[in-house]
Amino acid sequence: MKALVFHGPRDIRYETYPDPELRSPNSAILKVSKCSICGSDLHMYHGDTIGKTEYGADSPTFCTGHEFIGEVVETGRDVHTFKAGDQVLSAGGTGCGQCAACLTGKPLKCRVSTAFGIGPSLQGGQAEYVCIPNADTTLLATEGAFSDEQALLLTDAMTTAYFGITRSDVQPGGTVAVVGLGPIGLIGVELAFILGASEVFAIDPVKSRRDMAEKLGAIALDPNEDAVAKVLEQTQGAGAQSVFEASGASGAIAAVLPLTARGGTASFIGIPQPQDMLSMQLIMFKNITVRGGICQVQETWPHLVPLVRQGRIKTPDMFSHSFKLSEGADAYKLFDSRDEGVIKIAIEVD
Ligand SMILES: [Zn+2]
Ligand SMILES: [Zn+2]
Repeated sequence: MKALVFHGPRDIRYETYPDPELRSPNSAILKVSKCSICGSDLHMYHGDTIGKTEYGADSPTFCTGHEFIGEVVETGRDVHTFKAGDQVLSAGGTGCGQCAACLTGKPLKCRVSTAFGIGPSLQGGQAEYVCIPNADTTLLATEGAFSDEQALLLTDAMTTAYFGITRSDVQPGGTVAVVGLGPIGLIGVELAFILGASEVFAIDPVKSRRDMAEKLGAIALDPNEDAVAKVLEQTQGAGAQSVFEASGASGAIAAVLPLTARGGTASFIGIPQPQDMLSMQLIMFKNITVRGGICQVQETWPHLVPLVRQGRIKTPDMFSHSFKLSEGADAYKLFDSRDEGVIKIAIEVD
């Protein structure tokens, strides 16, 4: 098959890779129709770390990508919910598929839980085919229910936005700040209003992203023009009760606690680097509740699917660009540059 393969930082190649095989009786093979690039894919691209995994030129090669949709073409004998021909989307990560956590649909509690396409232990779906372990709880049928774009967002970006914004304890009438306006932050802005926020401050250095947040009703601020001071000024010195960090950039992480009101909640979903630290003094003396973590995608679907189906979540213009799989290297390059108003990139596989 053809796939995008990680060869090292800034070295993603379109090339021939061995076809995936069923790795367990409860796995399935998916023929990918579309995939997308996630902000967290850029950590590999930059040669940063994801958790304990460091990405360098000597890293083993693997197929990238954890956001993909397509058609089931083969199932193991223990897959009961899906059959060949089904149109599906996949959660961005899964587990071994065999332990108690995996079998009850909570793969993040699995000891070998991982995202697709961040290392050789679970090949990614920026490829023509991908193996899905634990298919019954990792896949979701899409048949006629969603657009391809909505389906792609339900693999990770929208679910992570939901996970992060709800864990910032948004209250009806409350004040929210979203730091980092990639797709997850922008969807976070939309969800904050759905959850009842009266005022949402949206912070990002890229003007086109701030413009999108403004269209969603947020007050957009540039971190290079003292956004923290402006939030404090506009909240009579209080700060935001709920702060959602959606970028993982060191500057964004550092801005969160100074922005958070006394007794407020700060929720982190951006992938941090080892040097990123929070001030214990601020957590302690401002009584800030701090949450961080990786979204368990499947747990958010019962909340998000009805909202998407009813048109309550619109995610307007989230996919700014489209590429072919063979142009994957260019897609990564553009996504990394943030040029041309790029927000999110869809990649057509077939
Ligand atoms: Zn992602
Ligand atoms: Zn497991």
